[in-house]
Amino acid sequence: MTIFVDMDEVVADTYQAHLDIYQKDFETSFGKEDCDGKEFWQCVPKEHQKSVKDHAWQVGFFRDLKVIKDSQKVLEKVSKKHHVYIASAAMQFPNSLKEKSDWLDEFFPFIPWQNRILCGHKHILKGDILIDDRSYNLHNFDGRSILFTSPHNTKTVDYERANSWLEIEEKLL
Ligand SMILES: [Mg+2]
Repeated sequence: MTIFVDMDEVVADTYQAHLDIYQKDFETSFGKEDCDGKEFWQCVPKEHQKSVKDHAWQVGFFRDLKVIKDSQKVLEKVSKKHHVYIASAAMQFPNSLKEKSDWLDEFFPFIPWQNRILCGHKHILKGDILIDDRSYNLHNFDGRSILFTSPHNTKTVDYERANSWLEIEEKLL
């Protein structure tokens, strides 16, 4: 099988990074549990929203992301059995291309550059499974769509859902 795996909020914890930067900038202490069903920028006061939207443009933002729990060990196993491709709409943030490539080299060295698709629209992807946290990416995919749970999508319905990489392991292995 050919399996596409998104990066942000599936293997890389972008949401946590927004939270960490925000807490540092504004010395507040709200957590992921306060963000249920919303984009992070929607959870902060209006006067802070621009600052949050600028995070992804900061040099180093995508290089410093933490790895989502269990994603490395499960993907390593899955990639021995299936054709695994990382598929990230990285062109939204052109500065992220090198950072994402370096990040994958460090944390997912078993996925070679030939299996990394840093792209724009994902509807051009043709394969069997797409794992993504964005319903608009899953909506246009012809194969099996799996929504990976992130604070912003907890209220999204109509998709097969995985709450963790251990659940992905159960589904795919
Ligand atoms: Mg994503």
